[in-house]
Amino acid sequence: MSPSGHNSRAWVEIDLPALDRNVGRIKQALPKHVRYVAVVKADAYGHGMPEVVTRLLQAGVDTFAVANVAEAARLREITPDAEILLLSPTLPNEMSRAVSLGLDFSINSLAEIDALAACTKGMGVRARVHIKVDTGMGRSGVWHADAHAVFSKVLATSTVEWCGVYTHFSDADTDTAYTTQQREIFLKLIESIPSEVRAKLLIHADNSAGLESFSAHSPFNAVRIGLMQYGLPPSAGSFLASLKPDPVLSFHARVVLVKHLPKGTAIGYNRTKVLTRDSVVAVVAVGYGDGVPTAASNRGQFLIHGQRCPILGRVSMDQTVVDVTDNPNVAAGEVATILGAQGKDRITVAEFCGWSDCIPWEALCTLTQRVQRVYRSDRT
Ligand SMILES: *Cc1c(COP(=O)(O)O)cnc(C)c1O
Repeated sequence: MSPSGHNSRAWVEIDLPALDRNVGRIKQALPKHVRYVAVVKADAYGHGMPEVVTRLLQAGVDTFAVANVAEAARLREITPDAEILLLSPTLPNEMSRAVSLGLDFSINSLAEIDALAACTKGMGVRARVHIKVDTGMGRSGVWHADAHAVFSKVLATSTVEWCGVYTHFSDADTDTAYTTQQREIFLKLIESIPSEVRAKLLIHADNSAGLESFSAHSPFNAVRIGLMQYGLPPSAGSFLASLKPDPVLSFHARVVLVKHLPKGTAIGYNRTKVLTRDSVVAVVAVGYGDGVPTAASNRGQFLIHGQRCPILGRVSMDQTVVDVTDNPNVAAGEVATILGAQGKDRITVAEFCGWSDCIPWEALCTLTQRVQRVYRSDRT
């Protein structure tokens, strides 16, 4: 796909048919009984929640996960019926709104159950909960050794409906042994849940990077998919390692000025780059105010005319200077591609992260609101 010819100065293109293809491939790779939970927090990883969710609903996805109540409220406006799981702990003052919206809570402590019971008592409804277990990440979730007390209390609380139990792996993409250890702790806990209760639970652990969890006797019946549906390849050890998702997002900006500068000219704030030859430079209307980190200064590259153009000097808020000395006839108004394909070349998220000192999730989430989202819904 080539960058489109509209009037924005900096924009991302979201290829919705690519999202469809990715969801289709992932669903096909999952055993039939495994529920696809689409993770759409942080504005669907910067892709725009309403458009992404609408598309996912059309693809048959009926369960979503977000970080917090504000995100869930936006999501509820789009889908009155889908299950929406809150991945983060919920504060007591957020609970009645979350119950009214019909959200699924993540329960991490006994105190949360008390607060939720107090909240639902007055409302005359039951709250749906997933118990989140910390099996070695030290972040949210009840510490695994303390989980039985939470299980018992949820079972004993009539205004709370136990719908799921899950854990999150801290090293799914990097440390197989640690992940196995986390999974075993979790599986042992699952076995301790009475089978008639367990039969009704959504049991999940894996994210996009997760490892094989779906062997014949495994109790897992859901998977939480974020990064992979947006087109980032699974890690080598993933249970979907052979799956090749298509990139969904690409990031572009316009060249706004081209000029000749003599050898010896210093470029940008703090003069971190001095030209070693007479040069032609292009000023591109994109900077850290859009999502190009200063870490990419003097390291990153943009594609113009399908050719790599090194970043010169420090990335500033609104502008980045690139070297086009070896790229003849670049003109103001033309497109520079920061992420994605142009001509025969492509800058991958992995490559962008390499020179930006960030991780793929971060690269996508830090694209700012100033960057216009352009949606392609055609089949390309
Ligand atoms: C964000 C998140 C996910 C999604 O992870 P990806 O690596 O993007 O697939 C899954 N589970 C939890 C608990 C999360 O917070």
